[in-house]
Amino acid sequence: MQLKDKVAIITGSASGIGKEIALEYAKEGAKVVIADLMLAAAQATADEINKSGGKAMAVEMNVTDEAAVDAATAKVVEQFGGVDVLISNAGIQIISPIVDFKYEDWKKLMAIHADGAFLTTRAAMRAMIKQGKGGSIIYMGSVHSHEASPLKSAYVTAKHGLIGLAKTVAKEGAKDKIRANVICPGFVRTPLVEKQIPEQSKALGISEADVVKNVMLKDTVDGEFTTVQDVAQLAVFLAAFPTNALTGQSITVSHGWHMQ
Ligand code: NAD
Repeated sequence: MQLKDKVAIITGSASGIGKEIALEYAKEGAKVVIADLMLAAAQATADEINKSGGKAMAVEMNVTDEAAVDAATAKVVEQFGGVDVLISNAGIQIISPIVDFKYEDWKKLMAIHADGAFLTTRAAMRAMIKQGKGGSIIYMGSVHSHEASPLKSAYVTAKHGLIGLAKTVAKEGAKDKIRANVICPGFVRTPLVEKQIPEQSKALGISEADVVKNVMLKDTVDGEFTTVQDVAQLAVFLAAFPTNALTGQSITVSHGWHMQ
């Protein structure tokens, strides 16, 4: 029980990587908040955790909505007694060459990844400072926090930006024992990636099998996808780490696609 009674807000945790982190955190004794746009799916995950002896609540949260983020965080403090961990994980992907990229799409992606990270960070830091017990903030970056790929300009820009935010939180938060780190996964087969396979196949004029083999997994050491479980293990490690010695870092979990 590495996270016993820690309150963890996980955004975008009705699906994919965030959901697996929620399930893993609950097994480690955390009180988990499933914060997502999709309230019914978030509630289903919370119910699954509560039925299996864990503790979870679902909150409807659009991470781009300042009032919604602040209200949901206040609800968590009221019902679970505080905030110890924030995982800023909600995200989308939009692929297009830069010359065809719609400004609306650029703004939509940046709002979820960058504005969402800022708004949830600010709300969590305010709660953590008030409590006086410190805390851990974890951003879901990507190998695209360090590398670029064609067709992903907005995503690559936003994911690089999260490293800047984490470093700033590390410096501002240190005096209150608030740590911030970034997890940088390689490709993980979640709905976000399943949607991209046919899209990239069309955009690049190659088969879906070639997208997987020769685009997504080309530079890994073993041609394998990273799993939601791999990412969840790292998220437990980062949240359980006890001191400011590990802060302002990004850690890559990608089968060697990117080596720092
Ligand atoms: P997913 O599509 O399975 O889950 C994303 C979740 O975010 C969904 O539940 C969705 O409802 C939620 N969401 C979207 N917009 C939201 C908003 N405005 N407010 C609140 N919730 C919102 O995707 P995933 O693959 O699990 O991705 C999770 C995170 O991991 C993302 O930040 C993504 O960029 C990152 N990531 C994914 C991969 C991968 O290969 N799957 C690799 C590296 C990084």
